Amino acid sequence: LNTQQAGGSAASPFRQFILKVHARCNLACDHCYVYEHADQSWRDRPIVMSDETMRQTAARIGEHCRVHSLGDIQVVLHGGEPLLAGLHRIRRLARLLRASVPEQCGVQLRMQTNGVLLDDNFCALLVEEGVKVGISLDGDQQANDLHRRYADGRSSYREVEAAVRTISQPRFRGAFSGLLCTIDVASDPIRSYTALCELDPPRIDFLLPHANWEIVPRRSGPEATPHADWLIAVYDRWRTEPGRVPIRVFDSIAGLLAGADSLTESLGLDAADLVVVETDGAIEQVDSLKAAYDGAAGTGFDVHRHSFDDARAHPGFAARSLGMEGLCGTCQTCPVVRICGGGLYAHRYRAGSGFQNPSVYCRDLLKLITHVRDRPAVALRARPVPGETHSLSGAAFDDLAAGWGGAGAVQALVDAQRSLRLSSLVHFVRVGRSADPSGEALAAAWEVLADLHERAPGAVEPVLAHPYIGAWVTGSDAVGGAGRARDLWGLALACSLRAGVPVNATVPLVGGRLLLPTWGALDLAPETGRTGWRTGEIATDPAAPAIVVDGRVVPLGEDPAKDDAEFSWLPVRHLEADGFRVALDDLDPHRDCYHHPAAGRQSPRQFEHWQAAFTDAWELINREFPRYGEGIASGLGTITPLEASGAVDASATHRRVFGAVGIGGPRADPGFGDALALLLLHEFQHVKVGAVLDLVPLLAPGDDARYEVGWRPDPRPLEAVLQGAYAHLAVVEYWHSAAHRSPGGPAGEARSTFLSLRDQTAAAVDVLATSSSLTDLGRRWIGRMQTTVQSWYELAESEEWGCDRP
Ligand code: SF4
Ligand code: SF4
Repeated sequence: LNTQQAGGSAASPFRQFILKVHARCNLACDHCYVYEHADQSWRDRPIVMSDETMRQTAARIGEHCRVHSLGDIQVVLHGGEPLLAGLHRIRRLARLLRASVPEQCGVQLRMQTNGVLLDDNFCALLVEEGVKVGISLDGDQQANDLHRRYADGRSSYREVEAAVRTISQPRFRGAFSGLLCTIDVASDPIRSYTALCELDPPRIDFLLPHANWEIVPRRSGPEATPHADWLIAVYDRWRTEPGRVPIRVFDSIAGLLAGADSLTESLGLDAADLVVVETDGAIEQVDSLKAAYDGAAGTGFDVHRHSFDDARAHPGFAARSLGMEGLCGTCQTCPVVRICGGGLYAHRYRAGSGFQNPSVYCRDLLKLITHVRDRPAVALRARPVPGETHSLSGAAFDDLAAGWGGAGAVQALVDAQRSLRLSSLVHFVRVGRSADPSGEALAAAWEVLADLHERAPGAVEPVLAHPYIGAWVTGSDAVGGAGRARDLWGLALACSLRAGVPVNATVPLVGGRLLLPTWGALDLAPETGRTGWRTGEIATDPAAPAIVVDGRVVPLGEDPAKDDAEFSWLPVRHLEADGFRVALDDLDPHRDCYHHPAAGRQSPRQFEHWQAAFTDAWELINREFPRYGEGIASGLGTITPLEASGAVDASATHRRVFGAVGIGGPRADPGFGDALALLLLHEFQHVKVGAVLDLVPLLAPGDDARYEVGWRPDPRPLEAVLQGAYAHLAVVEYWHSAAHRSPGGPAGEARSTFLSLRDQTAAAVDVLATSSSLTDLGRRWIGRMQTTVQSWYELAESEEWGCDRP
């Protein structure tokens, strides 16, 4: 059947390689497709993959990458239970794989384990070798015990829970990719979901249990949809949760509805690019086919005698690359086929008609997809606070896409970023509260902050908008748990002063500085004690305003020179021009997050230079670039001085630090005002497009290719091309305007800079426009960028400058 459907054509190159490194398991789950379903081929395979087979497999993968010039592949170490292969074998295999692929090819190493053996040693190995691990766990203990037991019937839950806690420790956390839960409708969906969330995984995936038209899933009748009902119960809870954990099946449906690619092989019409290598080197199709019939996954090829391209010609692979054409007639006419894609291939099997059927979960899939479509979660990647959703109007979207974005459009981004930051803060506290030794201090600060937020939201919100909160709630914290509690207390104290509500607190004074966002920083004498930090009793006096630190009153607003005092207060200073005010942040300990180092406290003289340049820059922006200025006035709150160190015009933004830009300087020369205007225009473009990407999916995931751009020597990922081209929309306008201002007129240096940047930007926008990785909204966005670029050529033509498109 597959041969006929596929018409003998070859599948696309493989990009995912599942390696069965160990063919036995230390659990005996009764829903396992490896041991408990029709296929019993595991009985005849070697228990473990030999060194020779590992070498040969790695060599074949390398060969495949070279032949197809693959930029990125994923290799999943699988079983049975892969950890049974042992530390040394896994290390050898990881190194062999990396050494076998060409230099330009990235290898993402993954592992799927039942977690029972996952201890400190294995976690350290995974971190060292860059292997990300997913752990199978079916919910709370009751749900997990339904199937995931040892051969003697014992529960595996406690061991697996301990493994998740082990890998969640900060030193191993980077190796943890998430939890995989096979659902059983006999379990309670909310209890299962809540139990998984309590373990704070980076991601959850829910799988439907393996079934097909021969072995039908458990349901009360043919019309019943218990699996959809189970998942919908979880979805309805999940979509309103702050700081919610990404769930692959829901994110996939939402992404597909928005025109993006699927994140899972069980949904969507993407061609399958996955191949399995068994412990003996046999090349097989996806494992889940084993649930269909004995030998369903087999191909007759093996890595010892055949290349992956030989195997690619097997009709089974080709049949799964046909997209819509490979589906049965019912699926082809289904209203949700683009999202569902006929469900998981293995779930379509029926004796006689093979895989030419709808999924055995057809009714469930239709119901789930329709439910998600009709109750869309807010933007794909933004995490809302309860009750809040965010969107961009079509007009605001188009205005931003053209390069500009007025006050209203940028305010929509500000609002969405506020939700995102609040949700990240909630998540940060939830994680820190259970994981930190200083969790109590964190919890106490959170209680004060939450109370203040409820009592005086108008006073607290501007403090929560401090950009660098975005860096510390999403980044790793070098000073550990005490540093987290310090930061949160700093935030709570700052809010207490704004809200006019006095607070007394015991604060971990760690790292030499306590920041009160929007107020300033308390510099502390270095600690020499054993822990390197101490606690301090701090009270706020909003009326003064002042804080009292261990009984000593520190009036806010002073800027004393550092002296022998135990601590000194450094207030935040602002730059002001024509009613527009931004903080010059040279204080926040988390501001050093850019690719140029942050500069230290600016001297009074340096501050004067900043102020003079800011006045000039803002005057220029308002006069010549009002379409950009309006958005900057709505969304820019902070400029952070960077060390210029030779790169006179150094500047930067950080994706998680909305509302701030880093600028190298100051310079004393009068040209610094012009330079500052250009850098503000440029960097605020990154701020805008980053916030749009948080709110709207413009690019589909999974494009790992690199693209040439004119402004950098190294090829860039597609998102970086978008970022760069979007920033250049403002930069090119600046140079066009500068050409008219420059003493040499249009013939001057500014004119040639305009022409060359214009052509580079046009080329980059063309790269974006021809990419197959744009979503529908992404195509609309790039279309607006193209219109702006085209207008430059028309403008140059009317001015009789160079107008030929390269
Ligand atoms: S842990 Fe995985 S491989 Fe082992 S028996 Fe359970 S489902 Fe099968
Ligand atoms: S919902 Fe049913 S008919 Fe529609 S694509 Fe999915 S499996 Fe096919």
